[in-house]
Amino acid sequence: MALEWLEKNLNWVTDQQVRLTEIPAPSFQEEKRAEEVKAILAGEGLTVHSDKMGNVIGELRGAQDKEAVLLSAHLDTVFPAGTEIKVRREGDRLVAPGISDNGTGLAGLLAVARAVHAAKIKPQRTILFAADVGEEGEGNLRGMRALIDAYRTKLRAVIVLDGSGIDHVTTKALASRRLEVVITGPGGHSWSDFGMPNPINALVRGSVRFINTKVPTSPRTTFNLGQVEGGTSVNSIPYEAKLKVDLRSESEDEIARMEAALRECTAAGVKDEMDNSRDRSRGKLDWKVNLIGSRPGGELAPDSALLAALGSADEFLGNKSRIERSSTDANIPLSMGIDAIAIGAGGNGGGAHSLQEWYEPAGREIGLKRVLLTLLGASGLAMEKSQ
Ligand SMILES: [Zn+2]
Repeated sequence: MALEWLEKNLNWVTDQQVRLTEIPAPSFQEEKRAEEVKAILAGEGLTVHSDKMGNVIGELRGAQDKEAVLLSAHLDTVFPAGTEIKVRREGDRLVAPGISDNGTGLAGLLAVARAVHAAKIKPQRTILFAADVGEEGEGNLRGMRALIDAYRTKLRAVIVLDGSGIDHVTTKALASRRLEVVITGPGGHSWSDFGMPNPINALVRGSVRFINTKVPTSPRTTFNLGQVEGGTSVNSIPYEAKLKVDLRSESEDEIARMEAALRECTAAGVKDEMDNSRDRSRGKLDWKVNLIGSRPGGELAPDSALLAALGSADEFLGNKSRIERSSTDANIPLSMGIDAIAIGAGGNGGGAHSLQEWYEPAGREIGLKRVLLTLLGASGLAMEKSQ
């Protein structure tokens, strides 16, 4: 049956992982990797299509097609186009950017689809196997948003495969918001126009106020000034200054409070700079705060059927896993009240988002079995012809 297929085909799974990892797929440029995944899923007896966003979806129709379960893995990586991606083998280790996040998840998705096909499993609810775009960074979960939009009324559970491991289950979605502060002014010459309001001065004045804002340790809340831009030369008063800020919290209320603080501090920084400029007749500063990304929070109910399905799989495999809060594709369904979890697809990995990212396949079969059993627990079986 399906579990045996997984045990016997581990080399195939690792080969797919290496092949897919070596096809570059920065967020917004996932097409080539998506085409490869599509070709493999089409060979597994699934009805396969791509949506407008670039997601690849393979459908295995269930006896009860009005309900569906989604198994997904994101296609994209954080590595920009041009990054050298050649998988190196160092002993039992595979080393390459993106090998674990999300090479493991994608390989797991294909392995489970193939095992289900090989065992001729007929699910009760329809199973959707999806490789989705735009999970990382400014991709802002756009692929998962489109999947949930398309299947919202049918979906009963979402299982997200992200990275490696079998030791955790993400049931709590970490909310985050990304904002960009933009301050503009007339600009001028550093000597002859000295005393004019300066957008970088205003940004610095506002930023110093903002980083003094107190955040609670519980609910854990964080902020990061991550990117700053502006100015054209050292001897020009700049006409623009920009700052990107990442806010995260276990509580949406705290995020809203931090966003309000950022706006207040920016306004105060601009006012300080205007009040201190000698020559206000020669132009004023404007400011705005743009929303550049938002990941809503949410939590899976502890008594949900999906968590029970994972619990049974863990019990069957003699595995123990801990509940985690993190920011994944599962944020979107969880924020909308759809049952969802994110789990690793087995083996061990580390160094995610770095050029030294690595993966060790040893023990992968337990992870794959855990995914398969949880998926079938959520979909139910219409009947199973084994062997
Ligand atoms: Zn990931």
